[in-house]
Amino acid sequence: MSTLTRALSLIDRDELVALTRELVRIPSVFRPGDPSANEAAVAAHVERWLRAQGFEVEIQPVAPGRPNVLGILDGAAPRGDRAAVPTLLLEGHTDVVTEGDPAAWTHAPFSAELVDGRIYGRGAADMKSGLAAAMIAAAAIRRSGASLAGRLVVGALVDEEGDMLGARHLCTTPIGRELSAAIVCEPEQNELCLEQRGVIWARVTARGRMAHGAMPEAGANPISALAALVTGASRLERRLRALCTRSRYLKPPTVTPTIMAAPVAGVPQSNVIPATAQATLDVRLTPGPDADAVAKEIDEACRRAADACPGVSVEWTPVNGFRMATRVERTEPLVRAMVGAVRRATGRPARWGGVPGSTDGTILRMELGIPIVTCGPGHRLIPHQVDEYVEVAELVDAARIYTAAALAYLKP
Ligand SMILES: [Zn+2]
Repeated sequence: MSTLTRALSLIDRDELVALTRELVRIPSVFRPGDPSANEAAVAAHVERWLRAQGFEVEIQPVAPGRPNVLGILDGAAPRGDRAAVPTLLLEGHTDVVTEGDPAAWTHAPFSAELVDGRIYGRGAADMKSGLAAAMIAAAAIRRSGASLAGRLVVGALVDEEGDMLGARHLCTTPIGRELSAAIVCEPEQNELCLEQRGVIWARVTARGRMAHGAMPEAGANPISALAALVTGASRLERRLRALCTRSRYLKPPTVTPTIMAAPVAGVPQSNVIPATAQATLDVRLTPGPDADAVAKEIDEACRRAADACPGVSVEWTPVNGFRMATRVERTEPLVRAMVGAVRRATGRPARWGGVPGSTDGTILRMELGIPIVTCGPGHRLIPHQVDEYVEVAELVDAARIYTAAALAYLKP
């Protein structure tokens, strides 16, 4: 029996379903200011499970109650020579978004009901199923006794739905810096996604001069400048589309105003022109331009808005930095390993896709420069919805794909 056949035979569907349901049943919505609403409990569960399976475990405290948990399977490489061997990360995040109004759910959001081959619950797709599949895959490889040319790491990171603090932290640690590739187990219906859209949240501040509403000539109205900015958003969008590469798998760049606020400080009054006003533009990108080129276009949009309103200055800052679009080439060893893995694990050829938003993989790609492939169970559009679910068949396929991909990538 080949190593792969043996490892695949050690994936237990019932164990995988049970682990996924256990993870879904532990709520892990992060609510700032509430010390009980974070990833601590689910991280502890992942840690216990990994230890029981015999993995080396590394806990990385990222913020209070918010640890990254890493399970490490070390190949035959001698210690001290770790930078010389490949290290593959199977990446998942432990936080989930809010369930919203539980009464709106047919299946209670944290009960993890199993109905007609689907597991329901907040995080069922995004992404406790992907995390469970990664854990089961790594365990199957460990149980198979396969020898590896390097290290396999299962990473359960915090705060993907927020500022991606877990991924940012990982990139600063020794094991993070030694990663050579990552499979991001986000719900992409098991398609191989080599491209992810980027995002910049441009917070634009217009500063004018306060004045009486009856005598607008005495002031300079920052709201008018923001009106010009929003009117100019479609021009900015066209210019970004011209800069970015057309992608078969990603929607083209978009510029969407999402927040408007004026006055920014003090009490709103109907007869007062405020001193400042703020708007946020949600700018989505496809691969191509670098951060400077995109920043120049946003600068230009702000300059045009200021020109439209004498006496008003307009400037912007990125909220949460620049998360640029990512792309990896099909010739990457990780991609080749995954293409073969899909065929061997499912009997079907690989299907290609693209990630509409940014993920922890965006941070890994930008900070470490390593190849990433996003591939995981769950329908691409289901995250953050009511009655979120994952198909068990897709979940099992994901665990099989991760197993085959890791064995191929880390083949001695
Ligand atoms: Zn996610």
